[in-house]
Amino acid sequence: MKNARLVPAAALLGAATLALSAASPEASSDLRVALERLVRAARVTNGAYDTIRGLTDTVGPRLSGSPADARAVAWAEAALTARGFSNVHAETVTVPHWERGEESAEIVSPVPFRLSLCALGGSVGTPAGGVEAEVVEAQSLEGVDALGGKAKGKIVFVWKVMERRSDGSGYGATVPIRGAAASRAAKVGAVGALIRSVGTSNARLPHTGSLRYEEGVPKIPAAALANPDADLIHRLLADGKTVRVRFALGARTLPDAVSANVLGEIPGREKPEEIVVLSGHLDSWDLGQGAVDDAAGLGIAIEAARLIGQLPIRPRRTLRVIAFANEENGLAGSRAYAKVHAAELPFHVAAIECDDGAGRVSGFGWTAGLSAERTLASVAEILKPFGVGDMKKGGGGADVGALRAAGVPLFSPIQDSSRYFDVHHSADDTFDKIDREELNTGVAAMAALAYALADSEAPLERIPEADRIVRRER
Ligand SMILES: [Zn+2]
Repeated sequence: MKNARLVPAAALLGAATLALSAASPEASSDLRVALERLVRAARVTNGAYDTIRGLTDTVGPRLSGSPADARAVAWAEAALTARGFSNVHAETVTVPHWERGEESAEIVSPVPFRLSLCALGGSVGTPAGGVEAEVVEAQSLEGVDALGGKAKGKIVFVWKVMERRSDGSGYGATVPIRGAAASRAAKVGAVGALIRSVGTSNARLPHTGSLRYEEGVPKIPAAALANPDADLIHRLLADGKTVRVRFALGARTLPDAVSANVLGEIPGREKPEEIVVLSGHLDSWDLGQGAVDDAAGLGIAIEAARLIGQLPIRPRRTLRVIAFANEENGLAGSRAYAKVHAAELPFHVAAIECDDGAGRVSGFGWTAGLSAERTLASVAEILKPFGVGDMKKGGGGADVGALRAAGVPLFSPIQDSSRYFDVHHSADDTFDKIDREELNTGVAAMAALAYALADSEAPLERIPEADRIVRRER
């Protein structure tokens, strides 16, 4: 950890209340020049694209606690050092260590068919030889509860179609099933839980992601079916057929392991103790290469900060890139950062998290004090002609969510997620899915916003006390 130069909190808070007088014309024109320069550089850079390729092709899938996770930490330290960052270091984080093992599934009757499925992250394995039982369907978690005695000794199958939406909101409407289906099914006596994948693709590739077992409820094995396979079972059941499925999961949880958050900085020229965070997560699920989730976000954050570091004059405040550990199955990296850096959080003036893929970015969602709106509007006005000037209330993310309790203004890109959930958490999340031109809209937006936040005369108004409750964002 870097030793922050601490300034009295009262002085900082006083500054924040005076902060938002309109910038002087000169400052405004300087800002415009810097932002336009950054956007132009971002449009033609290969930096983010090459960073993503480095992480995906040389490290590959890197689930927390795996040997590849350790290689990813070493890669991140080397990548930040090679790109000229200061204070590059890894901060140890204890993470869960779950392994998938071998898995298989089939419809036994009425028509034998080999199914494509994957265990949900954190699932227990099945007994050797697998679980075989009749399938009963529900279409929601409440529907699982309503099965009551009909689920006893059966495999509960939750069939809900995730809708494709450009803002990705179909995910929020479906993902609670992934998290809770196993325990809800166990409560009504099921021996296993299957879900239609939380994903929008019709490829025969299942989408994994974490589940959460409830305390005091038997842990039953749980897996996601590829969407075409889930739809087949749904049709057979709709026809009134009795469907028997067998599935075997080799999943197991090992003792906790060691990973790390990796940090690197572009020191500020006037107020180096004040920090703007640019972040993504270093870990990934195990099935693909973790390219869109989240090598892309990390690539964007690193390149945006690097481009700012290339300007003739650095911004006033320090830019800190954080590659978070263990976003996917625990958020241990996020919690560890907030704890280790607690004394510094009053001097974190903003945190930006990029974890929505590599699609086109049109601006940012933000969470801060109300008066931030005026400042952000002046930044948006400069960025609008470049297509990255949208600003809307409501920003943040799973990793920076832990900073909310300290009132740190939070940002996340407004991103076209219409294709993101075709590959998210599946074997299809590979480097070829990255479009460099679309990716660079994210670099442009993030570089411009980070610069504006790091060089403003005073920081944005922080999140009001009443809104600082840490929400569980996933
Ligand atoms: Zn992610």
